[in-house]
Amino acid sequence: MFRLLYYAMLAYLVYVVYKFLLGLGRRRRPSKPATRLSGMMVKDEACETYIPKEEAIREVIDGKEYFFCSKDCRRKILDQVKKSG
Ligand SMILES: [Zn+2]
Repeated sequence: MFRLLYYAMLAYLVYVVYKFLLGLGRRRRPSKPATRLSGMMVKDEACETYIPKEEAIREVIDGKEYFFCSKDCRRKILDQVKKSG
C-alpha cells in the first residue's frame, strides 16, 4: 500500500521535473524590429550628414533627388535652390 503511494509520488515528481524542463527548453521568440532597414545611407546636403534612407525626407528639386534629416534642412536647400535659380 505504501509502495503504491511511493510510486505515485515518484510519478508526480517526474511529471513536475519534466514540465519544468519543457518550460526551460522552450525558446523565447526573438523580437524582430518592426521596420527592417536596408542599410542604405543618403547624404543630407544641408548639414552634410549621412542618414538612413528610410528615415530621410525625400525631395525632388529640378529633377534632382535630395534627402534631408529634418524639415529645416529641406527648407535650407529649397531656399538655396530658389536663390540660385
Ligand atoms: Zn540635416
